[in-house]
Amino acid sequence: MIRVPHNRLTHGAAERDAVAAVVASGRWSCGPAVERLERDLAARLGRRHAVAVGSGVGALRLALLSLGVGPGDEVIVPAYSCVALANAALACGARPVPADVVPGDWTIDPQAVTATPRTKALIAVHTFGAAADIKALGGLGVPVIEDCAHGIAAGAMGSLAPIAITSFYATKLIGAGEGGAAMTDDDAVAAFVRRWRDYADQSADGTRLNDKLTEFAAALAGCQLGRLGEFLEARRACAERYGAALADIARAGAVALPPAGERAWYRYAVEFARLDAAEAIARLAARGIDAAEPVADWARAGEACPVSARAFRRLVSLPLYPTLGAEEQAAVIAAVRAVAEEAR
Ligand SMILES: *Cc1c(COP(=O)(O)O)cnc(C)c1O
Repeated sequence: MIRVPHNRLTHGAAERDAVAAVVASGRWSCGPAVERLERDLAARLGRRHAVAVGSGVGALRLALLSLGVGPGDEVIVPAYSCVALANAALACGARPVPADVVPGDWTIDPQAVTATPRTKALIAVHTFGAAADIKALGGLGVPVIEDCAHGIAAGAMGSLAPIAITSFYATKLIGAGEGGAAMTDDDAVAAFVRRWRDYADQSADGTRLNDKLTEFAAALAGCQLGRLGEFLEARRACAERYGAALADIARAGAVALPPAGERAWYRYAVEFARLDAAEAIARLAARGIDAAEPVADWARAGEACPVSARAFRRLVSLPLYPTLGAEEQAAVIAAVRAVAEEAR
């Protein structure tokens, strides 16, 4: 039996050489690799500015601060999302307000959002690579931040909202170990994030921490950005194979598959009939497949956010990454079919 890991990083000689060049340069922070990454990322997304920072959650925090979010304010976030969103709001002294998501693509539901006079921002995630409805959200009268950690440079993802952010965490679409960036066409927002990522020569108000990206991470992210088209294509091909090979059991109601269409394929999340995520993951593991619960329930999504509550309980993320081989894909398909059949 082959064992298929849930994640595997994609890297080669280009990544090794890029990091080695930084080591040899003697310039390990605030140097040319960060500048090059910012230029390339902005150009790739068609934005005026990209500002590199130390993490995705740091990019969110600085984006919120740039909008003037502070104590007493509220920030709307999808209930089904990474806890980083809630923590970014809390770090500004604001209160995260969870809103439910759309069944099937799991992005924030514009109809579930209620803005109040205290609402200062809304964060939307292209969940698993499915585009959030930024246009409808933009019509609610609240500044929207587009979180592209799951979907970037697919369609217009990354240039849909006034401010976009992303993460370069190891297993994201562009991996650099750790890191992130904020993208915008607004000169003032870009200048704010650039100034606030560094505490040097700033006042003592607790908002300027250290959100700088290292030259090592910038060099890695730059390499991976150069290969992003190839990565997205390999992920799409794998997702299409899963979709075709599982279509019959999906039609029979044994498993629910993610919607296809123009999107990025960061995660392939499925729901088995009659199985909670933990049980399905255990049964897949017994067949050599490492699957995972994509997000943990920080929001305690209950009756107020029923779609999110169900997603937390039921969704299972299957292996999906550029180096997933044909034999591994076949093993995933066989295991999913077996688990689905068994639970019918
Ligand atoms: C990973 C992630 C973040 C946080 O990024 P870090 O770089 O880990 O801080 C934020 N939002 C989403 C949707 C993510 O997936």
